[in-house]
Amino acid sequence: MGNMKLFTVGPVEMYPETLAIRNLQIPYFRTDEFSKLMLENAAMLKELIGTNNDSKCAFITGSGSAAMEAVVSNCFGKSDKLLIINGGSFGERFVKICQIYNISYDEVRLNFGETLTNEKLSLFFDNKYTALLVNIDETSTGQLYDIHLLQDFCQKKKMKLVVDAISSFLSDFYEMDKMNIDCSIISSQKALALAPGLSMIVMNNTFYHEKVENREPVNLYLNIKEHVKNMERGQTPNTPAVGICFELHQRLMEIRKMGVENHVMMIHQRAEYFREKARLIGLSIPTYPLSNTLTPIIFDKGNAKEICNILVNEYNLMVTPNGGALADTVLRVGHIGNLKIEDFDLLLDKMKELI
Ligand SMILES: *Cc1c(COP(=O)(O)O)cnc(C)c1O
Repeated sequence: MGNMKLFTVGPVEMYPETLAIRNLQIPYFRTDEFSKLMLENAAMLKELIGTNNDSKCAFITGSGSAAMEAVVSNCFGKSDKLLIINGGSFGERFVKICQIYNISYDEVRLNFGETLTNEKLSLFFDNKYTALLVNIDETSTGQLYDIHLLQDFCQKKKMKLVVDAISSFLSDFYEMDKMNIDCSIISSQKALALAPGLSMIVMNNTFYHEKVENREPVNLYLNIKEHVKNMERGQTPNTPAVGICFELHQRLMEIRKMGVENHVMMIHQRAEYFREKARLIGLSIPTYPLSNTLTPIIFDKGNAKEICNILVNEYNLMVTPNGGALADTVLRVGHIGNLKIEDFDLLLDKMKELI
């Protein structure tokens, strides 16, 4: 694993400052000092995600799917109906969570290669829904859905808008309040470039009061209300991933210093650089709108998995293979984490030899 370079979407190449924090003894956490750190984490997160200070923040120790499950199960119930944008495996995950918790839903289904359009969404306009659930970057395909389209639809229908921004926050433009997003879900191991295991739910005050506060608990560990109540004093109901909370604090300070727009621009420039060169060497990139987080590459000959294997085994270059139906035809190149333009040059050189 020594010289492996990760062009993945999470975990990704971490920054030396994060690695230095990972090396320290984990302190005890029921202290004023840790509470202060967590309150600062919440305040910085709210600032960077573009929501006001009244919004609520829950820190869930678990991967992103735990936060997705917490939101669906704690914010909605038997009397609700949800609309889910399902254009890949993360949309499918929202569907499965609804099935398990017996929450009604409709799906806007997109096949691989299909763009989410107003036309497709409008087919659902006359139905009644409590909320729309979307993975704004559907990481399995890299499609970045049009937030303005979704925002407009939800405003007109007076629906809540819940966004899984796990693979989009910090790499695509995102402003929660301005985009009328009621609830955002993010996670540590994507563009934040931290260890996996900490996920954050940010809700505006109205959404929290209307959807969460007066609901009977359906689970214990994922109970958002308990998390929000504990966060009033900067604490969590259970032992959190203390080490990642420290990593997060350092990263948020750093991104705040550089400016969130500059961070997004940095990832955007990597993505543009890679895509331009990839097209020049004849690689095939889908035509739907793409997140800056990753570039999917289509191999019509069905050798995507084979190319992934050669890149990792012979050159220590780890790109992201696809699973399921796309495993042989699509691989994904991540642009987030501690990567440099030269890293993409090396990857492109090797890919050129292999195609
Ligand atoms: C990574 C990711 C998740 C979380 O997946 P985990 O494996 O649980 O970390 C959820 N949604 C999206 C869009 C993601 O990219």
